[in-house]
Amino acid sequence: MTKSDVGVEVQGKDSRCRWCRHALPPKDGPGRRKEFCSQRCRQWDWVSRQRATELELADNELVMTREELDSLKDQIYVLHCALADARNDLSKPRHTKDSIREILDWVMDAAEPVASASLSPSAHSVTRP
Ligand SMILES: [Zn+2]
Repeated sequence: MTKSDVGVEVQGKDSRCRWCRHALPPKDGPGRRKEFCSQRCRQWDWVSRQRATELELADNELVMTREELDSLKDQIYVLHCALADARNDLSKPRHTKDSIREILDWVMDAAEPVASASLSPSAHSVTRP
């Protein structure tokens, strides 16, 4: 997939799943526009909204566990470091197909966990104080 493929699919935030933010397939035929890419995403969104109502959260507030947030931050940090390494390596002259492949593998390994991260409401029940 090229950059332009992604750009075309993800144009306009309305064509993305309300939960996971992945691009939705183009609307075929009349009827309501799809809001979710899957039944699973629809359910997570519903659960999340139920929780938000229970906790009297505003529309733009959410609750996630520190563990989930830390894990995501760690993945982003690893990707940040991989990008810095790649930028540094690419600034050096004379690259072979293998050296470029190695840099790309490094970045891809760091990017994969972030790309496949799925944030879902935790399985723990919400406990009130
Ligand atoms: Zn989705």
